[in-house]
Amino acid sequence: MGNEMKILVINCGSSSLKYQLFLMPTGECLVRGLVEKIGEKSSFLKQETKDSKKHELKKDIPDHTAAFKFLIEAMLDKDYGVIKDVSEINGVGHRVVHGGEKYIESVIITDEVIKDIEELSDLAPLHNPANLQGIRAAKELFSKNVKHSATFDTAFHQTIPDYAYFYAIPREFYDKFKIRRYGFHGTSHRYVASAALECCRRIKDNTNLITVHLGNGCSVTAIEEGKSIDTSMGFTPLEGLIMGTRSGDIDPAIINYLFGKGYDSKEINNILNKKSGLLALSEKSNDMREISEAAANGDKKAKLAMEAFAYRVKKYIGAYAAVMVRVDILVFTGGIGQNSTLIREMICKNLENIGMHIDLELNRSVGNKTGIISQHFSPTTIAVIPTDEELRMAYDAFELLK
Ligand code: ADP
Repeated sequence: MGNEMKILVINCGSSSLKYQLFLMPTGECLVRGLVEKIGEKSSFLKQETKDSKKHELKKDIPDHTAAFKFLIEAMLDKDYGVIKDVSEINGVGHRVVHGGEKYIESVIITDEVIKDIEELSDLAPLHNPANLQGIRAAKELFSKNVKHSATFDTAFHQTIPDYAYFYAIPREFYDKFKIRRYGFHGTSHRYVASAALECCRRIKDNTNLITVHLGNGCSVTAIEEGKSIDTSMGFTPLEGLIMGTRSGDIDPAIINYLFGKGYDSKEINNILNKKSGLLALSEKSNDMREISEAAANGDKKAKLAMEAFAYRVKKYIGAYAAVMVRVDILVFTGGIGQNSTLIREMICKNLENIGMHIDLELNRSVGNKTGIISQHFSPTTIAVIPTDEELRMAYDAFELLK
């Protein structure tokens, strides 16, 4: 009992804030919630406690400090709250998207860390400033005794070797602007890799994995003995796989060609991030559930979107299998990876060629739960592991604070 802590985990966007309160070290989630439309008139908070009781509260929330006050009120509520006093919260773990080359693991937030996150906003202008707003608001609200930690999306990938992170463009772009592959989704890849080791009863020292995170954003990572050695997202989360609305890999010359056709940089950026990917191919939706349903009903563009999506993932798995001496475990995670048995089946078709034999029956019966979906004789074990980035963050905070 003496070592128990309550850790609040925060994922802060520019107009939204997700929170979860964990009891550590058990990792039990006491409450999860979401404050949306911060700064708008119609802001609201949704909260679900561990006994599945749901509440929705409406209120004007002008800024992130007000959002924190609101979520603390909700956690303290006499009827549906989960704590009696704010002092029960021992630490706060914050998600930070970009940690640059400096942050290779989670850290306690000091003034220097805040300054660094601010400076790194140049590399992640949409995310780091929003993450900082959350950190500042939380620091203002909680007592000085409460420590805050930061978990960076990029940190896990800082072990990638230089030949995999350098782009073959003039060196001055790295020297002046730090243009290189950083990789994202690191917390998810790290979480599912260690959960997969547990599931397959292996230790990290002699295990190579390929982890495939397929959600709205998608990325693949090659992991050798616990270290990320390559990942499909790059300087930004736009590179690599086809995603909900992001293009993933394209010929960079297309951008210049579009300039020539009269598009400006803002439009092109918006197209590649918000109007591409599954949405562009299906001309219907960025949601794999809707696309799968349309494809099943004979929609040809939806079918094309699924095929292109699976094909790109397959190519990356092949590429990463080629750079490691063997692949022991292939992991599927993220909303699509965890839930779509069909997409898993499409991706794994022909991967027998590189020692990955899916068992179609197991694939269906495991469904969206943790489990192994490969044939017993498959040299590579294929596993489904639901991701839990927030729990990973809570463990990081707990380790740093205890
Ligand atoms: P985020 O990256 O925003 O965290 P998620 O990991 O929740 O997103 O993934 C969202 C994606 O998962 C959407 O494309 C959604 O359609 C897809 N998804 C969720 N459930 C299913 C399902 N049962 N079948 C197919 N796709 C699903």
